[in-house]
Amino acid sequence: MESLRFLTPEIAQKVGEAYTLPAYVYDWATLEQRATAALAFPNAFGLTVRYAMKASPNGAILRIFAALGLHFDASSGYEVRRAIAAGIAPERISLSSQELPEDFRELYASGIRFNACSLSQLAAFGRWFPGHRCGVRFNPGLGSGGTGKTNVGGPHSSFGIWHEWADEVASIAAQYGIQIVRVHTHIGSGSDPQVWARVAGMSLDLVRRFEQVETLNLGGGYKVGRMRDEVSTDLARIGEPVKAAFEHLAEETGRRIHLEIEPGTYLVANAASLVTRIQDIVATGGPDGVTFLKLNAGMTEILRPSLYAAQHPIVVLPKNNAGKTKEYIVVGHCCESGDILTPDPSDAETLLPRRLAEAEQGDLCVIEGVGAYCSGMTAKNYNSFPEAAEVLLNKAGKLQLIRKRQTLEQMLQNEIPIQL
Ligand SMILES: *Cc1c(COP(=O)(O)O)cnc(C)c1O
Repeated sequence: MESLRFLTPEIAQKVGEAYTLPAYVYDWATLEQRATAALAFPNAFGLTVRYAMKASPNGAILRIFAALGLHFDASSGYEVRRAIAAGIAPERISLSSQELPEDFRELYASGIRFNACSLSQLAAFGRWFPGHRCGVRFNPGLGSGGTGKTNVGGPHSSFGIWHEWADEVASIAAQYGIQIVRVHTHIGSGSDPQVWARVAGMSLDLVRRFEQVETLNLGGGYKVGRMRDEVSTDLARIGEPVKAAFEHLAEETGRRIHLEIEPGTYLVANAASLVTRIQDIVATGGPDGVTFLKLNAGMTEILRPSLYAAQHPIVVLPKNNAGKTKEYIVVGHCCESGDILTPDPSDAETLLPRRLAEAEQGDLCVIEGVGAYCSGMTAKNYNSFPEAAEVLLNKAGKLQLIRKRQTLEQMLQNEIPIQL
């Protein structure tokens, strides 16, 4: 059975008393510890760590990371605006987006860095800013990901410019006098060190191809175990061969390439917990009968189990702890059969009972590992449930609200009534 990470039953209880549940709780100490570990990534000629802010974009988290020296990766123009609103200097923000923002020219003029993620983006950049410096995101032709949906390299991924189109990149750059100063690859959220070493090698080949490149950004995708038995990426282990490859390139060509990495998951995955309450317990009968724990949260706060069959630790905090356990299927509060917290890891559509502390209606239940791609990636407002509050557990052990729970008025504010 899984146990609490940074919370204690007493602090979880306090969260339930001080705020309407469900509520996310982020741990400041864990955020700092992960940022420090990422900043120790092996490198030969300098390192920039960018936080991929789509993992969890709350301004409080951005500020904590900025104070520790992190830079930022934005996935849309809105994320750029959000980072600037949190006080992040535009020079520290890099945009790699699937969709070029409507206000791109204004954003770029404010000082942000840009990676063209398709040939058409590169040409648009060239037309608007001839002679400027920019980065190019390539799809190096292979990827690594926990599932088909999290694998963002290879022929079946739309992200980045296919590595064999380097000549087209060069000709667009020549046409507009653009200097390609950064090569970017991001292959997805896996942890295979061999795939990493190969992608770094292939990325360095692209660096050789473009002589003005000063920086190689290897993206994110460092797998983090959320469940106790899942493996986590050892940054030193995957980083050492990458460092050696940079040194080798320098010996051969004299080019001292700066390294950028861009983790999202690595920095925040285990830095947050979702505190929920068990609002009902129901059972079905017959030989296949099971018992369901119904939480007052679900895909409106954590979508990953429904989307990827992702496994998250679930910890019941029983009021009457008799040490007894029981198998449960844990489900969310939405009227939607896909709103499940205990999918079979090999099949998102099948439910897999999990052994938990025996629960009573009203007990607290904590879902761990919800720092990345939870609060920022939900089935928000489905069934008209309001967006949950976000709370920070600061280093003095005090709880601090960093996002209020949404109100019904806020949910309705953009609707326009009709006259009948
Ligand atoms: C999502 C993303 C990341 C972060 O990926 P993780 O798997 O969370 O580390 C980094 N770079 C880019 C371009 C991304 O889109």
